Amino acid sequence: MSRKIALIGGGPAALFMYKKLTEFTSDEALEIIIYEKNNQLGAGMPYSNCGAMREHITNVSGNELPSLPQTMKEWVAHVEPTILEPFGINERNFNECKVVPRLLFGIYLQNQFELLIKKSKLSNIITTIWYSTTVSDIVYEQNTGMYKIVDDRQKDFLVDEAVICTGHVWPKTFEGKVDGWFDSPYPPQKLKQIYNAPVAIKGASLTAIDAIRTLAHANGHFIHNNDSSYTYNLNDESNGFSIVLHSLYGYLPAVRFHLEDPHLTPKNFIEEEEVPDLKEKFGGYIPIDYIFKTNFVEPLKIQDNALYNVIKHMSIEKFVTHMFTDRENMDGFDLLRQECKEAEDSIANRSSVIWKETLGALSYAMNYPAKHMSAEDMLRLKKVLMPLVSLIIAYVPQSSCRELLALHDAGVLTLIPVDESSNVIPNENAGAVYHYDKEGNKKVHFKTFINAIGQAAMQLNDFPFQSLKDDGIVSAAYLHFKDDKKAEEEINSGNELVVKAATEGYYLKVPGIGINDHFQVLNNVGAFDPGIFIMAVPFIGGLNPDYSGLDFCDTASEKIAETIFRKTPATNKKVLQLS
Ligand SMILES: Cc1cc2nc3c(=O)[nH]c(=O)nc-3n(C[C@H](O)[C@H](O)[C@H](O)COP(=O)(O)OP(=O)(O)OC[C@H]3O[C@@H](n4cnc5c(N)ncnc54)[C@H](O)[C@@H]3O)c2cc1C
Repeated sequence: MSRKIALIGGGPAALFMYKKLTEFTSDEALEIIIYEKNNQLGAGMPYSNCGAMREHITNVSGNELPSLPQTMKEWVAHVEPTILEPFGINERNFNECKVVPRLLFGIYLQNQFELLIKKSKLSNIITTIWYSTTVSDIVYEQNTGMYKIVDDRQKDFLVDEAVICTGHVWPKTFEGKVDGWFDSPYPPQKLKQIYNAPVAIKGASLTAIDAIRTLAHANGHFIHNNDSSYTYNLNDESNGFSIVLHSLYGYLPAVRFHLEDPHLTPKNFIEEEEVPDLKEKFGGYIPIDYIFKTNFVEPLKIQDNALYNVIKHMSIEKFVTHMFTDRENMDGFDLLRQECKEAEDSIANRSSVIWKETLGALSYAMNYPAKHMSAEDMLRLKKVLMPLVSLIIAYVPQSSCRELLALHDAGVLTLIPVDESSNVIPNENAGAVYHYDKEGNKKVHFKTFINAIGQAAMQLNDFPFQSLKDDGIVSAAYLHFKDDKKAEEEINSGNELVVKAATEGYYLKVPGIGINDHFQVLNNVGAFDPGIFIMAVPFIGGLNPDYSGLDFCDTASEKIAETIFRKTPATNKKVLQLS
């Protein structure tokens, strides 16, 4: 009998999961069944036409990728030139330090998946791929201890483990009901229209930039100048077109620079074995201040002593205020221009912007211990540190910055700072009314509105596999408050996510579903299910606040594969165990 593992979704997460599973040596025969609702493996949402057009590019370069059978450079050297031609790339002009078109990257990922499948055949691993097949449910079978994968072909299949790799979700509210209202910029083809009026965008980070690039290319053209800047000219029929970007406090995301260690090698990241000792030392939780000191402040001592001396005694709150001061005092586009120059120099000289790179590493380091933090620290992480981190680690590629600056210089792109009291209401005829204050005194109607705030965190209710919810195998995610008084203060200030526990103390409900350190789902008494793993970022962001991207796919899949193969053989009966 073989061990049967289902991968639900066949995007980048499934690619890395497949790689790790097939690399493990085990005496057991292995069968991997991949379900993909579209017809391309590896590319997933961002790197296929579900999420990209020709103008969209990755924010990582070939040399920053986790290991795959071929590097991008090797692939470019071997692939049919006709695949590269439409993207203006060939073996001679390809530079693995540069970002690439996302659609081309999707073909690379697809080819890597194909190579892995071919290789695994030699190890007698059976791989079955179901294209154009959507998994609609996963059902635990008490009598066999296996999971029934239910799909829209109505051909149920029993497996020992299932890894949920379903990826991005872009729920619709008014899109399709209100003309000119878009709940997300995806798929981007829908935005490729001629506009002759201002278009409102909510959000200013990578998702917004995707929308801007599509709108800009559909309504005008960029001229590449000799000094590497661009000039933008509107097409005649789009004379009235402009983009009004609404960003929280007027911030724009920071620019991609040279990374000294793009693979985020764990230097002093907290390891699983350290967790019990640390929790004991700190009264049952891993403090955010400890992680900040160990993974940010201390590394700066050697790498950027000047900054270290300035911030070494600062709290997280003080540090964030300090770092935001510059951004607050400068116009968003002036700062973008300045950061673009800094990033160009960093890439040309292959020298990192140390504090930004260290902040990126901190953000990554924070994810794993986040589920061992107190609710108080999670609130601080979300409210204080994450706004800075998410701006800095956006890594906006240079060509996107040049386009943004050219659009701004042409008077086509403007930025309106908004705060949490702003609100967007669909207009009954078309588009939306942007309310800039709570009272609705200051408002503007736009015929077209695009919500581009990025991937929203999903809740238990949104989880697509109903039987896992009905059987109590998955549950919402919670963190415990260290101090009852702080929880009560939160309740009094209107935080509806704080709940009183039946036994002791208070909990904070965080987005998504509960998981343990091995990405196994947790039920509502904290017991993990040994056979259901989840890598779908929108559902695990509550306990893993900054996990996304290809590095995450690589790290998580390694942990999951280790857990699957470290377990007793698949034929053993499964019992829920406390995590
Ligand atoms: C616009 C955008 C750009 C990004 N760019 C980068 C980047 O440049 N670099 C980077 O490191 N990260 C980037 N990211 C982060 C991104 O999260 C990952 O790179 C990657 O897409 C995650 O892969 P995934 O497989 O988890 O999800 P997805 O890419 O969403 O893939 C999920 C797959 O599962 C399939 N699926 C879903 N539900 C079902 C079902 N029920 N049954 C069967 N199949 C199903 C989907 O069709 C899809 O193929 C980007 C994210 C976005 C949104």
